[in-house]
Amino acid sequence: MPPVNLGLPAPPARRRRSRALTLGKGPDAVIVGGDAPVSVQSMTTTPTADVDATLQQIAELTAAGCEIVRVAVPSQDDADVLPTIVARSGIPVIADIHFQPRYVFAAIEAGCAAVRVNPGNIKRFDDRVAEIARAAAEYGTPIRIGVNAGSLDARLLAKHGRATPEALVESALWECSLFEEHGFTDLKISVKHHDPLTMIRAYELLAEACDYPLHLGVTEAGPPPQGVVKSAVAFGILLRQGIGDTIRVSLSAPPVEEVKVGLSILASLGLREPRLEIVSCPSCGRAQVDVYTLTQKVQAAFEGFPRPLRVAVMGCVVNGPGEAREADIGVSSGNGKGQIFVRGRVVATVPESRIVEALIEEALKLDGEDAETAEDTETAEDTETAEDTEDVAGAEGAGPAGAGAAVPRGREPAEADTRAVPGAAGAG
Ligand code: SF4
Repeated sequence: MPPVNLGLPAPPARRRRSRALTLGKGPDAVIVGGDAPVSVQSMTTTPTADVDATLQQIAELTAAGCEIVRVAVPSQDDADVLPTIVARSGIPVIADIHFQPRYVFAAIEAGCAAVRVNPGNIKRFDDRVAEIARAAAEYGTPIRIGVNAGSLDARLLAKHGRATPEALVESALWECSLFEEHGFTDLKISVKHHDPLTMIRAYELLAEACDYPLHLGVTEAGPPPQGVVKSAVAFGILLRQGIGDTIRVSLSAPPVEEVKVGLSILASLGLREPRLEIVSCPSCGRAQVDVYTLTQKVQAAFEGFPRPLRVAVMGCVVNGPGEAREADIGVSSGNGKGQIFVRGRVVATVPESRIVEALIEEALKLDGEDAETAEDTETAEDTETAEDTEDVAGAEGAGPAGAGAAVPRGREPAEADTRAVPGAAGAG
């Protein structure tokens, strides 16, 4: 039978093959590139030398889902506190260095997970590459070559006339070649521009020209919603082509917002499980509840909920029951009431004033039930594993014939195979 065309989008293109870099050490290390998931990063806005404020912001970013954090190092005071920040951060810390090569060495020695340099504005950078490569190799510190349209090397600006995609790529590859001359290739690259189309083209050219992991960013993207839209469009187009290993959404807004937007972009592309997805209608003349206010209240109430959840907030019965049924938890409003859905079933009808409370109550119940189910499954699996171990030990004790038998004693192969399925499905 010929396949039925459901009009669904084509599956994602294969991911571009990039080298894998490890940022940080120990259990908090994050891999960028290779087969690792695309990571989300942001940058602190506190003076780095204010250790308490910086660590507080790093903790808030970590709680929001940030996986890598960058801190600015514009002064010796900032460089001096790097060892403390690195030691007390729960996620890898990257030092962002402009103008002063000596801070690059300080950051490497402080144990930063990586150092971002901007070749366009580091004084005498090209002359110091040998020393930087040596120190970075000794400490196992990757370097990000971060080219920005606003600070493109004057030689390339003169050659290309402006910060074209070709100029950005040439700058990045030139700096990479300087490191390569010294045998150092633990590099990742960004070529940022405020214009998404220029940025997209630059990354496409870069992706063809090398296999270094790529850090995506639309620089100076502006405040929301403009910055959100620019980043979503650019990242969406590139990630859909398999280009990009880590992302930073640059917003003129608190950095936690950057992380939320970044995670949301990845979730929209199917590259991450959404933490909280609100399916809410835009409201219209049929709405029988203030959808905007209700949605804001629901979003605030579910912020930080401990499990991924899809919550539907619908304004009337036209699409309400359908969407509410599809979600984990949902409400379809009408006549001053809310019909509460849990995984497709109506579980209650409550007055409008109790909708948010009822949704939270049901979500907590659901969370408890899921935790119980997971516990039961784990216990059953543990018991089965113990039984199987005993059985296999018995079979091994039975001599050469038993040792060769992978199937527990007394069970048919078919039974053993069937029993393996729930565990395998659970793992997926
Ligand atoms: S669910 Fe009802 S209120 Fe909301 S947009 Fe659709 S028709 Fe309008």
